[in-house]
Amino acid sequence: MATFPLAPGSTIGILGGGQLGRMLALAAARLGFEIAILTPEPDACAARVAAHGIVAAYDDPDALAALARIAEVVTFEFENVPASVVAQLGALGVEVAPGPRALAMAQDRVDEKTFLRECRVPTVDFAAVANPRDVIAALDKLGAPALLKTRREGYDGKGQTWIESHADAEAAFERIGKVPAIVEARADFVRELSVIAARGRDGDVRAYPLGENHHENGVLRRTSAPAGVTAAVAAEAETIAARILTQLDYVGVIGVELFELAEGRLLVNEFAPRVHNSGHWTLDGCEVDQFEQHIRAVAGWPLGPTAPLAHVVMENLLGDEINDWPALAHEAEARLWLYGKGEPRPGRKMGHINRLRPLD
Ligand code: AMP
Repeated sequence: MATFPLAPGSTIGILGGGQLGRMLALAAARLGFEIAILTPEPDACAARVAAHGIVAAYDDPDALAALARIAEVVTFEFENVPASVVAQLGALGVEVAPGPRALAMAQDRVDEKTFLRECRVPTVDFAAVANPRDVIAALDKLGAPALLKTRREGYDGKGQTWIESHADAEAAFERIGKVPAIVEARADFVRELSVIAARGRDGDVRAYPLGENHHENGVLRRTSAPAGVTAAVAAEAETIAARILTQLDYVGVIGVELFELAEGRLLVNEFAPRVHNSGHWTLDGCEVDQFEQHIRAVAGWPLGPTAPLAHVVMENLLGDEINDWPALAHEAEARLWLYGKGEPRPGRKMGHINRLRPLD
């Protein structure tokens, strides 16, 4: 087992090879760490900025043994790695942070919401469903319209469908592929916010100012931060994040997605046990960004300050929007982050731009 704090020169393993892994690797490099990426994808954009790249299925025993030989500690940038992988790495003497409980909770929407309720964190009302009869019973309880989501493996609005009425129950269950699911009451939110927070190995918790998020077709389009919220809303979001982090004995950065209702009440939609797209603004807007913060936490270093230095509007560059890079590169007060991905398929996250202005 590793001893913490990890010294510069140590190797940190990351499960997943996308842009989040890439930005984690860049932050780790600045602190003198080496990175090893394990991903099933050949030519992953994170592996191209890392010292070591292992291309294999996440649960490939040989690949995990190779990772355990070079990495002192392992983290992930993708929450759908099989839970067995954490156990396998543990058996090889390598800790995974955040831990197995955080990963398990984030992989199942019913377990996640049940856990949140147990921590006294407010969520929408919900019911677990496994067949059309359950869906009808859920509508009786929650009212229509309601949102049907697969329990597992949904992201960016995939695996979910609105149920308009009782008559639509069976068809809705078919639309999501007749798999175990959750029915959620509709949240009448006035806007969507998120809080990015971190917990260190010493139990220290720090939260960034809230971001206000705008989605298009279920995908994050833009985050504006720090969001204009009341002190009470900011404090409530921090309390929610701290409760989740402490209950999970969490180490690392978490992204908590929130619905703000009229009069400033907050509900948690979901949390991601990793760095989060709505935290990309911190790269240019904060003293220590979310990627360095995650590396600090995982390595057992003290957490860094989360104070904002600028107001930032972060905009994702999706698909062929990346082709605008020559014009975007001309913009003053804007920082361009391009992920080095090949094919700009429609909707694919190719980069983002942070547009800065002084704090109000
Ligand atoms: P999710 O995949 O859970 O992040 O949901 C994607 C988007 O769907 C959210 O960002 C919201 O805009 C919307 N959404 C999710 N759950 C609800 C809900 N219970 N009520 C209303 N809108 C929702």
